[in-house]
Formats: sequence, C-alpha cells, structure tokens
Amino acid sequence: MRVAPNLDVASILCAAPIVRVALDVPLPTLFDYANPELINIIPGQRVIIPFGSAQMVGVAMECVADSAVPLARIKPVLQVLDENPLLSAELLALLRFCSDYYHHPLGATVLSALPARLRSKQPVTLKQAARYRLSASGRSLDLNLFPKRKVVQHRLLAALQQGVLTAAQVRAISPSAASALKALLQAGWIEPCEVSAAPSTYAFNSPHTLTAEQQQAVAAVQRASAYSCSLLHGITGSGKTEVYVHLMHHALQQGQQVLLLVPEINLTPQLENYFHSRFPDAELVSLHSGLNDGERTQNWLRAQMGRARIVLGTRLAVFTPLPQLGLIIVDEEHDASFKQQDGLRYSARDVAIFRAKQQGVAIVLGSATPSLESYYNAQSGRYQMLRLTQRAATLATLPQVRCINISNTLMAHGISEPLLQALAARLQRGEQSLIFINRRGYAPVLMCTACGWLSGCANCAGKLVLHLQDRMLRCHHCGHQQRVPHACPSCGNTDLQPVGIGTQRVESALQEYFPQARILRVDRDSTRNKGTWNAMRQQIQDDAVDILVGTQMLAKGHDFPNLTLVGVINPDSALYSSDFRASEKLFAQLVQVAGRAGRAEKPGEVLIQTAFPDHPLFRALREHDYENWAQTLLAERQSAGFPPFVYQVLLRAEGKNKEEVYTFLHQAQSAAVALDMAVEVYGVVPAALPRRANHLRAQLLVQSNSRKALQQFLKAWRPLLDTLPAKKLRWSLDIDPLEF
Ligand code: ADP
Ligand code: ZN
Ligand code: ZN
Repeated sequence: MRVAPNLDVASILCAAPIVRVALDVPLPTLFDYANPELINIIPGQRVIIPFGSAQMVGVAMECVADSAVPLARIKPVLQVLDENPLLSAELLALLRFCSDYYHHPLGATVLSALPARLRSKQPVTLKQAARYRLSASGRSLDLNLFPKRKVVQHRLLAALQQGVLTAAQVRAISPSAASALKALLQAGWIEPCEVSAAPSTYAFNSPHTLTAEQQQAVAAVQRASAYSCSLLHGITGSGKTEVYVHLMHHALQQGQQVLLLVPEINLTPQLENYFHSRFPDAELVSLHSGLNDGERTQNWLRAQMGRARIVLGTRLAVFTPLPQLGLIIVDEEHDASFKQQDGLRYSARDVAIFRAKQQGVAIVLGSATPSLESYYNAQSGRYQMLRLTQRAATLATLPQVRCINISNTLMAHGISEPLLQALAARLQRGEQSLIFINRRGYAPVLMCTACGWLSGCANCAGKLVLHLQDRMLRCHHCGHQQRVPHACPSCGNTDLQPVGIGTQRVESALQEYFPQARILRVDRDSTRNKGTWNAMRQQIQDDAVDILVGTQMLAKGHDFPNLTLVGVINPDSALYSSDFRASEKLFAQLVQVAGRAGRAEKPGEVLIQTAFPDHPLFRALREHDYENWAQTLLAERQSAGFPPFVYQVLLRAEGKNKEEVYTFLHQAQSAAVALDMAVEVYGVVPAALPRRANHLRAQLLVQSNSRKALQQFLKAWRPLLDTLPAKKLRWSLDIDPLEF
C-alpha cells in the first residue's frame, strides 16, 4: 500500500504547488501545505503533514496554484502514502455534501470515513484472506455418518458443503469454531484455498420461485434505469429478503458491487452467513463497529479495491468506497440506528439516497413499517412504491392480535390472567412464547412505602433501576450504580418496594408460575458477554427454550418457526410521551415483534396488555393496517406542523453550569431571530432528560417548511454560533433530529 510516488512520472503530470488537506481537527477549514517538488498528488490520497509539533495523516482534497497563507508560513507535505487515492472523487463529493448538509467540519467528516488504522501512519497491506474448502476426501464424506456429538465440526462441514468459507465466516459459526477448524484440517477433511479473483457466474442459491408480488417488485426496480429510489413496503414474512437477493443477483452478474445496509441489532454472523450461502462465490465483507481495527481495515480495503462484491454493513458502511457500486439496499429503513447520534450526526438512509442519486444507481428501502418520511415521499411520487401484501410462505398467515384491557383485569407482577392461560396452553402444546417488555432490570424504580422516597440518580434527572439479581440500583443514563439500601435513606423505614416491571421481574414471576418451563431472558444485561446472544439464538432455534422474555433485541428479523404466542407488556407509556415520534416507533416495534409469531405453518397469536384497547394504534395493529395508521399519523403531523411536513434542526447544549447553558442558547436564539429568515425559531427548553451525569441539558428547535430555506439559515447561523462564548459547555447541531 505504501508506495513512494514515482517522481519522474509525477513531474510529467500536472501538479500544483499547494495541496489543501483535510485533517481530523474540529475546525471547518482545509489546511494548505506546500508541494515543493511538484509531486503529482491526487485528491483522495493520504498524506503525512506536520501539524504543530506533531505529524498527522490527512487526505489531500485539492491541488491549487496559490494560498491565502503567506508562502513562508506554509509547511511542506512530508510524504504521500498511497499509490492510488483511497477515496475516489465521487466519495469525496459525497463527504463534502455531508459536511455541508450536517454542518460538520469537512476534515473531521472526511477522516471519519476512514477506518482508524488508515488514519494512522502505520503502513497497511491487504492480507490474502484465508479461506477454507472441503478437500477431496471431505467432499466424499457422508455427513449422516459423521459423529453427531461433534456438533461444531458437523456444522462447519455442513456450511462448507454450501461453499468456501472465510475465516470470519468460520468464526461466526460458533465461539469454538477455531478449534473445530483445526481438528478438521488435521483430519484432512478440509484445506485452505486461494481466493478466486473473479468468479465468473455468481451462482445463486434460490430455493423459492417468486410470488407474483415479489416478481413485480423485482421487475419494477430493474426497469428503472440509472437512479431510482423504491420503497418496498412488505408485511412481515412477505419475503422482502428474497426480493433483495434477486436484485443483488442481477447486479452481481452485471459486474456491480452491492451495498446492503441493515440496523445495528440485525447484523449478526447468522445474517452474514445467510447471504454468503445465497451467493457462495461472491466475496462478501461486513462492516460494523463490532469489528476490530484490523478486520475493519481489511474489509474496507477489499471493498475499496473492488474485490468484495457485497458489502453488508451498519450505518457507517454507507461511506465505503465502492468503485463498481450498482445497487444499494437499506433494510428496515425506518430503524433509528441508521441515525448517528454524535459527531457527524448523519442519517445513513438519507446519505445512501444521496449517494444513489449521485452515482446514478438504484436504491431500495425496505420495511414492514416505513418511516413516515419515506412513506410520504412514496405517496407523493418522489419514490416508487412497491407493495408485498401477503406472507410469502403459502401456509404462513398473519397472527391474530388481541388487546387485554388491564383496567378491568387482575394482574400479578404485571402479567394478566388471560396471558398466563395462553402461555400455559403453549407449554402444553410444546410451542414457544415470547414476552416483550421494553425495560430491562427488575423494576424501573424502588420506593419507600412510608415516606414515598424514590431511588433517584444523584447525577441525573432519571431514576435508578432495580437490578435484583446482583442487588444493585443502576442508572441507565450515566452508569452510576450502588447497592440496594437496607433502609430508606430518607426516613429509615425498611420496607422498600419495587415499582413497575422490567424483564427480570417478568422472568422471575413466570418461573414461579411455570416451574417446569425453560425460560430465557434476552436483554442487554443477559447478553453482555461476547457470543452469548449467538449461543442463545442457537438455543431458541434448537427448541431448548419455552418462554422468551426480552426487550426489542427480540423484536427484529429473527425467524423462530416454533413461536406461536407473543405477549406485550406495558406499551402504553409511548402513547403519552412528549416525543412526537413515540407512537410511530411503538407501532413499528409492535409490528416487528408481532411478526415473530406464526412464521411457519402454525398460526400465531399476539396479546397486548393495555389500558387503551380502542386507541387507533392498537386498532391498526389488530387489522394489520399500516396504511390507515400512517394516514392518521400524517394527518396529525400535518396539522401540528411536524416532520415530514417541516424540516428541523436542534441545537443542543450541556454543561455543569445551568446559567451558562441557558445564556448560550438564548444568545443563539436571539441571533437566529435577528437573521430574520424564513424559519420558525422556538423557545429554549430543557432536554427530555434535563440533567445527565451532572450536566444540565437544554435545547433550541428551529424549523422550516423548506429544506432549502433551513439550509440557507444554517449557513448564516452556524458561524454566529462559533463566536458565542461557550468555553465550558458542549453544544451540537442535529439536522433532521430523531431524538428530542
Ligand atoms: P420479510 O423479510 O419480508 O419479513 P422474509 O424474507 O424473512 O420476510 O421471508 C419470510 C419467509 O418466507 C422466509 O422463510 C422465506 O424463506 C419465505 N419465502 C420468501 N419468498 C418466498 C417464496 N417466493 N415462496 C415461498 N417462500 C418464500
Ligand atoms: Zn422513607
Ligand atoms: Zn445517572
């Protein structure tokens, strides 16, 4: 990778004396460096430059004839790191757009597109990816005769019968796959092999003939030439994945690369293996924050060099250089994890759409519950609307949804009698159930029965959550924890009671009701150790679990064929939340979790415990009517003046000194009003969590019904913000914010 530029060639090519360099510093400018020997430097190449007393890696952005900085003060570029630019002109344009649109410094934006290792001076070489295949004797092996108790070896061999595996894919099979691999290598069943540089066919394993709706969706995307954005609205189980696979196949055969973005929680080794098994001879890499530096750099380089044909990634993968990009897919496009919540606060979905437009390629946004933004765009004709209205597998039907009115039902530990009966019936039939409750811990708060004291966090405006297993009170905002007190810190009374319900409480209550049942709790606490969640998923697949209790981790795209009952506990708080998106999110979550029931032949049932069974949200759920619900929400948003009918920017500030935070925001507000532009400037208000880790938090909202007007305003406002006194506080601009 690290090649000294050939000076002879360089001097023939046109080269300019000044290079403008992007650096990862919080300043909105590029930095000028001299190129005294007129080396040919191409934008997108990394350079080493002196910065202060240190040396830094930057990215050359442009070469120009002169600089506003006096020549004597311009330091020279020390070294050019790459023979070819790491970032193409197109990608640089995309990053410039993001820097402009999100009002984030260009240097920081550009450097954030590089894996950490490529931001350092260490040389990086592309490793030959280790791969494994069955040997001649391995191919003649009858798996039925292979000892079943060697579970992992068995699984590895089965996977290798589908095709070649990379080391990462081997690791994904099981935490102990490495030793199984070694054993199989020693036994001679498998052998390492070279990567085939350019497979010719991209064989495509397709067990299904497409339904008529799927066929129409595929055809509609393929019909559009150059840029098109399609919203694939398909109910859960309608076979959206199959549509993706067909589109991907088509793109691969045309020699194109495919970018497939999925929500953070969905990107599992299983998903990676799934796509690998569908396209055994297309090189696939994944990109997500769970990879270590080395893996991420290698995968990134394989995509950048055009070797990887499929890039499967979370939001950060939207910035991967892909020289032959031909198709982008954003699965579960409504998912909030596509929005980055710090630094460059981008929406990967929106950036992906811009990228598709810029490169003239097709993009498909898929979801059972599209975001209102996308749905509105599809309705108004800006996107192409594609619908899958039926479940794809012939025998799978949508689950029956019923509400249990908790205002007139007896409850114990938050669980109602009808739900208990439904659980008992499943246990008797040997079917799985899932209880969904979006709160981890035992109870959200501990209370003194004598004086009403509540376990508050000393550092935050929030409450300490009771974790009974290790007898701790824990703040889910700042991480503060303390032992459960023996007596009330306020009055000394020893009768302290948990209030409300969390996953642990449901788990222990159910264990009491059903002592024989195998209950598995899945939340962030129970899956903290690496690999646990994978092991749990295997347990569920193997039918070693009767009742699952969990948070939204369980709601997403997993296929559990024996699951026939979903119980939902306590969804109501979202109905009176101050967040105007709360009910949109709740609906999406409930559709997802309901979609886990009855995926195979057995019909599913969903029971929702609520005090508001007549709420339109639950009515829409019962009737499986997203469209009607979306229309209701859109009408509400329109009359209230909320997105997607307006465009918003949120200025957030936080600091230890309340006075300073509010003064800053009030000055920002006055500056905004004084600009007198076509935007609405709201008042300064406390954040939803007004104090966090001893920092006071407040915010200021500005909105406009024109995206362009809002951008023009930001261009004028942002430099003013930079001049306001804000020494001891942190502030940030969030364009198109999702959280308030
Ligand atoms: P979605 O992502 O829309 O929820 P999936 O892609 O997971 O749905 O598909 C649901 C199930 O339907 C899967 O088990 C899949 O194998 C099956 N399936 C998909 N397409 C077809 C088809 N054309 N014929 C039969 N089964 C199909
Ligand atoms: Zn008390
Ligand atoms: Zn706290």
